Amino acid sequence: MKERTKVTIIGAGNVGASTAQRMVERGDVDVVLLDIVEGLPQGKALDIQESANILGFNSKITGTNNYADTADSDLVIITSGLARKPGMSRDDLLIANQKIVGEVVGNAAKQSPDSIIIVATNPVDAMVYLAVNVSKFPRNRVLGLSGVLDGSRFATFIVDELKVSIQDVSPCVMGEHGKSMVIIPRLTTVKGVPLTQLLTTERIKQLGERAVNGGAEIVGLLKTGSAFYAPSAAIAQMAESVILDKQRIMYCSARLDGEYGLSKVSLGMPVKLGVNGIEKVIEYNLTADEKTALANSAKAVQELIAVMKI
Ligand code: NAD
Repeated sequence: MKERTKVTIIGAGNVGASTAQRMVERGDVDVVLLDIVEGLPQGKALDIQESANILGFNSKITGTNNYADTADSDLVIITSGLARKPGMSRDDLLIANQKIVGEVVGNAAKQSPDSIIIVATNPVDAMVYLAVNVSKFPRNRVLGLSGVLDGSRFATFIVDELKVSIQDVSPCVMGEHGKSMVIIPRLTTVKGVPLTQLLTTERIKQLGERAVNGGAEIVGLLKTGSAFYAPSAAIAQMAESVILDKQRIMYCSARLDGEYGLSKVSLGMPVKLGVNGIEKVIEYNLTADEKTALANSAKAVQELIAVMKI
C-alpha cells in the first residue's frame, strides 16, 4: 500500500503554519513543519494535531528543527524568511531572504532529492530563480506562489463591482508578483465574457491597481505582519494540483527557457500543474502591448536577480 504524501513546510510563521493547517485538514497528507526557532514548529504542530479528533482527520503533523525529519518528502513548501512591514516593498526583502532561502533550499533538497518545491518567500520570482540554482532541480520541479493569489485578490474586487458569483470569475494575472504585475483584462472572464466587455477601461485599471497593491493594503492594516489566509489557500490549491495530478492551469512563478521570448528569469505564467510539478508553460497569443508589459516585468525581476549575483 502506498504511504501518504509527505509534505514539508519550512517556516512555521503565519504563512507556513496556516498552510500546514490547510494541508493536514485534507486528511490524505502528512506534514513536517520546520523552523529555525526552537519550540515554535513543535508547538504549532501539536496544536494543529490536537484538532484531529474534532475535525476527524487522520493526517500526522510533526514539528521539528532538524532537516533529517524532512527526508523523502514529495513536496517542500518554502515560507521561511522576512515578511514586509508597512512602507516596505517586496524587493526590500531581497538580500535577507536570499540568505535564508539559499540555506533552506540547499538543506531540504539534499534530504528530498525527488521533491517538488513550492516557494512563497518574497520577492518570490527572484527566490524561485535562486531555488532552481541552489537545488539543481530541473526547472519543472520548482514553482512560486504569485498569480493564484494576485488573481484571487483581483477577483474579489471584480465581484464587489459586478455583484456576480466569485465562482464565475476567472482572473488572468501574469508577470512579477510585485509592482510590474501584468493583469490581462481581455483574458479575465466572468462566465466566459471578457472583463473588457463588462467594465470601462478606467474602472478595470482602478481594480487592477488595487490588486497590484493588495499585499501592501493588508500590511498597512495589520501593521505587524503580512497576508497569510489567502496566500495559504493559494499554496494549498497549487499543492493539490500536484498531489492529485490534476493538471490544472494556474498562474505560478516559473523559470523560463525561451517561452514568450524570455529566459534567464522566473516569472508568473499560466502553467499546467501535475505530479511532475510544472508539466507545461502555456503560451497565450498575447497582443503587442501585453507582450511589452510582460517583457518589462521580466526586466524588473532580472534586475533583482542581478543584485543577488548568482
Ligand atoms: P513570518 O515572519 O510569520 O514567518 C516566517 C518564519 O520563517 C518565521 O517563523 C521564522 O522563524 C522562519 N525562518 C526564518 N529564517 C529561517 C531559516 N533559516 N530556517 C527556517 N525557518 C526560518 O512570515 P510569513 O507571514 O509567514 O511570510 C513568510 C514569507 O512569505 C515572507 O517572505 C512573505 O513576504 C512571503 N509571502 C509571499 C506571498 C506570495 O504571494 N508569494 C504571500 C504571502 C507571504
